[in-house]
Amino acid sequence: MKPEKCSLCKGKLRRGVTDIVVEVEGRIISIKEIPAYICDECGEAYFTPEISRKIDNIMKKFHESKLSLHPIEAGELTLAEA
Ligand SMILES: [Zn+2]
Repeated sequence: MKPEKCSLCKGKLRRGVTDIVVEVEGRIISIKEIPAYICDECGEAYFTPEISRKIDNIMKKFHESKLSLHPIEAGELTLAEA
């Protein structure tokens, strides 16, 4: 299951990786190297349900304080933590 077209501009989506920044408990965390489909035209990133679930999982774990951020990378982490 993969998105076909950008729902904002109807641009073509290409496989790639992206970073997102989310806020959990008032802290900003950056999640790096997430596989995504990225719009050629406007750069909007789309995630498959599996990836979305992993992102939710990270946020949940972080919320429950089961994850600590990588101190050397200034609060960055990857989906490998999901
Ligand atoms: Zn687009």
